[in-house]
Amino acid sequence: MSVETKDIIIVGQGIAGSVLALELIKRGKNIIVIDNASLSTSSRVAAGIWNPVVFKRLTKSWMIDELTPCLNEFYSSAEKILGVKFLEERKIAKLFTEEQEINLWKKKVTEDMHDYLSEDILEMHEPTSSKYAIVKQAGNLDTSVFLTATSQCLKVKESYLDETFNHDELKINASGVSYKNILAAEIIFCEGHLVKNNPHFNYIPFKPAKGDVLTISCKQLDIDFILNKGMFIMPLGNHLFKCGATYNWQDLTDVPNPAGKEELVAKLKKLISYEFEVIKHEAGVRPSVIDRRPVIGAHPTHSQLKIFNGLGTKAVMLAPFFAKQLCDYLMEGKELNGEVDVKRFERIY
Ligand SMILES: Cc1cc2nc3c(=O)[nH]c(=O)nc-3n(C[C@H](O)[C@H](O)[C@H](O)COP(=O)(O)OP(=O)(O)OC[C@H]3O[C@@H](n4cnc5c(N)ncnc54)[C@H](O)[C@@H]3O)c2cc1C
Repeated sequence: MSVETKDIIIVGQGIAGSVLALELIKRGKNIIVIDNASLSTSSRVAAGIWNPVVFKRLTKSWMIDELTPCLNEFYSSAEKILGVKFLEERKIAKLFTEEQEINLWKKKVTEDMHDYLSEDILEMHEPTSSKYAIVKQAGNLDTSVFLTATSQCLKVKESYLDETFNHDELKINASGVSYKNILAAEIIFCEGHLVKNNPHFNYIPFKPAKGDVLTISCKQLDIDFILNKGMFIMPLGNHLFKCGATYNWQDLTDVPNPAGKEELVAKLKKLISYEFEVIKHEAGVRPSVIDRRPVIGAHPTHSQLKIFNGLGTKAVMLAPFFAKQLCDYLMEGKELNGEVDVKRFERIY
């Protein structure tokens, strides 16, 4: 087998690995991505929603003013390069339960939230009777289309290997790493929750959360926004809707959980009075870290090994900004944001 020389090996092609691969290619790096999507992928299950607002206290999502311009620029440019559309700006209709919530909303609009919360309190009659208001600068990424288009692009460039990465075959040497017949200066692990199998980075305190999600068919439901009230209902077209999601910290398999389906169906029945049929039930495991921040940077003793992970519940928003930051760190020696730098866990390595 002839030796292949690459600048960087990426392991994993979920949202993290895909965004990072496209950013590295844009910056002229010769990369190879190794992925076996049949292992487990949270990204293909995700609704792909980006929501700039934390509903609990009606505050801005962490770093949102920096993340939003970056996500719009990154995915729009990726759409042009890959020749398919996967990003859609959509309104989120936040339904209110209590008067208190409405008062808080009105207060926040006059404070620092006016870029993201619309002023008007509206009345919804269908599919449910409720007061609501609109979240602006939100939307969703069709993750399946994005991931498929990215892997096709990588295959055309001969930069894709469809196999399970075997950690026992990774050799670390002074000038970089070698994996089977591939020599590279560095390797970046983007394995999502399967980082638990990575002997170099499994010391990081992940707190993964499984999520079940349903696709339903409902002929009478006619909305073009994402509806949110304790759960989301997102239109997919053709009377299909993605609905979710649950949080489970005990069952960390990605096998759809019947109790998760039951929970979602019960919530849906409360929210919409129409008949619906469950077409698909999926589950994935969110790669969240205990402090709920991404985890990015170099291994404490082998600087050739890097990690880009911990995107938790907000991969769509976080990935473009932090992929750029990781590239600036790799190529220009710029510092990583201390809140995301893997160095914060060095004391427990
Ligand atoms: C139900 C649900 C709904 C969600 N909704 C949203 C949402 O609306 N918006 C949002 O932003 N986020 C959402 N998320 C979170 C989002 O899905 C995750 O943050 C994101 O997918 C993580 O991406 P990743 O690339 O780090 O990991 P993954 O998507 O898990 O990708 C990791 C990839 O690495 C591969 N891999 C791992 N180990 C190996 C190996 N040894 N060899 C080869 N390949 C390997 C895996 O097979 C996989 O393809 C949701 C998650 C769930 C479960």
